[in-house]
Amino acid sequence: MVTLGVGSPKKDRVLIVGAGPVGLVAALRLARAGIAVTVLEKAEALHSEPRASTFHAPTLELLDTLGLTARLHELGRPSPLWQYRIYETGEAAIFDYGLIADQTRYPYRLQCEQFNLVTLAAAALEKEAPGSLIFGADVSEVSQTTNNVSATFIRDDKTEIITGAWLIAADGATSAIRTKLGVGFKGETYPAVSFTVGTPFAFHEHMPAMLGVNYFWSDFGPFSMFHTRFMWRVGWSPPPDSLDEDTLSDGIVQAKLAKICPAGAPFSLMTARLYRVHKRVAETFNIGRILLAGDAAHLNSPAGGFGMNGGVQDVFNLTTKLIAIAEGAPAEALFDRYTRQRRSAAIDDIHSTSDANYRRHRESDPAKRREALRDMQAIIADPDKHRAFLMDNALINSYRRSEAVA
Ligand SMILES: Cc1cc2nc3c(=O)[nH]c(=O)nc-3n(C[C@H](O)[C@H](O)[C@H](O)COP(=O)(O)OP(=O)(O)OC[C@H]3O[C@@H](n4cnc5c(N)ncnc54)[C@H](O)[C@@H]3O)c2cc1C
Repeated sequence: MVTLGVGSPKKDRVLIVGAGPVGLVAALRLARAGIAVTVLEKAEALHSEPRASTFHAPTLELLDTLGLTARLHELGRPSPLWQYRIYETGEAAIFDYGLIADQTRYPYRLQCEQFNLVTLAAAALEKEAPGSLIFGADVSEVSQTTNNVSATFIRDDKTEIITGAWLIAADGATSAIRTKLGVGFKGETYPAVSFTVGTPFAFHEHMPAMLGVNYFWSDFGPFSMFHTRFMWRVGWSPPPDSLDEDTLSDGIVQAKLAKICPAGAPFSLMTARLYRVHKRVAETFNIGRILLAGDAAHLNSPAGGFGMNGGVQDVFNLTTKLIAIAEGAPAEALFDRYTRQRRSAAIDDIHSTSDANYRRHRESDPAKRREALRDMQAIIADPDKHRAFLMDNALINSYRRSEAVA
C-alpha cells in the first residue's frame, strides 16, 4: 500500500497511458486546467477504426465543456428515435428521446465514429500542450513511491523512463498496467463473437421505416444497423464455431448483407471487424498514484453503446479530482471516492443495462422475442416507464447516480 505524499500544485505532471478517447479527453481536460500532461501511446498514429458510434447525452454535455460537441455534430448524425423491429413482419417498438428533452440539451443518440472524437481531442491537445502526445511509446512497467510514479516505455528500441505525480492507465481492454499491478478483472466473456461492417450503401433508401438506430430480430439471426453521417454500420454474430476467416470472407459478408437488403449487392465495405464481447470490472480503479479508466477499468457488451461513454464519464470525474488535488485537496480520499463512484456506475448501470440489451437482442426463441417486443411496447405506451427506460439507456441516470455516490 502506497501512502500518498502532498501534491505540488500545477507543476505536478500527470502521465496518461493510451491515446484512445479516454486518455485523450483526460489529457485535454487537464491541459486546459493548466496541468502538465504527457500521453504515451504505443501505436505510431491515432487508431482509425470506427469502433464506438453512439454518443449519449451526458457525454455530449461533458465534451461540450471542452468545445468538442459542436464539431462532433458536424461529423455525426443525431438519432432521436430508435427501434427494435421484427424484420419479417415489421412489428416494432420505437423509443423516442424527445420524451426526455426536458432533461438534456441532447435528446438523441449522436451517431458518430469514435475516431472523430480521438482526432478532435488530439488536435485540441496539440494546440493546448504541444508535443505532449508521444507515439510509438509502449509502456512496459510502472512503479511508484510516496511522491511520484514512473512509467518505463520502449520507443525506437530504446528504454526510457518518465516520472510524474499521477498516472492514468487508459490503455484499453488488455491493459498491461492493470495486469502488471495484479488488479483482478473478474467477469465473463460472452460466448458469441460479434462482427461489424461499415458501408456507404444507402439502406434507408431501400428498406422501409429505417431509423438511425435499429435492432432487428430476423429468421436469419439478430443484427443491428446504425446510421452515421458517412456510412451504415451493420453488426451481427456469426454462427457458433464459425472460423474467423470464414466470418471475414467477402463472400459470406456479401451474402449476409444481401439477405438484409438484396438491392445493394455487391456492397462496398469501408470497415470489417470481428471482436469478442466481455462483461468485466477491475476490483479497484485506484492503486496509489495510478488510476484506471475506460476499458482498462471496465468492459461491457456494446449493446446500447456504453463503453466509450462510460470511459469519458470516468475521466471527467477523475480529472475534476486531479484538478482539486492540484489546488491542494487530499488525494487518497478523492481517489477512493473515484473508485466508489465509477465502479458502481460500471456495475449497477452500465453492466446491468448493456447485459439486458444484449440478452434481449440475442433471444432466438420466437415466442420469447415476441414477449420481449410486447414488454417494450407496453413500456412505450406508459410515458413514465418510457421516460425511465430512456433515462437508463441514455446513461443519464447512471451519470447522476454515480456523481451522487459519497
Ligand atoms: C464494434 C464496437 C462498437 C462499439 N460501440 C460503442 C458505442 O457505440 N458507444 C460506446 O460508448 N462504446 C462503444 N464501443 C466501446 C468503445 O470502443 C471502447 O469502450 C473505447 O474504445 C474505450 O476507450 P479507451 O480509450 O478506454 O480504450 P481504447 O480505445 O482501447 O484505447 C486504448 C489506447 O491505449 C493504447 N495502449 C494500449 N497498451 C498500451 C501500452 N502498453 N503503452 C502505450 N499505449 C498503449 C492503445 O494503442 C490505444 O490507443 C464499441 C466497441 C466496439 C468494438
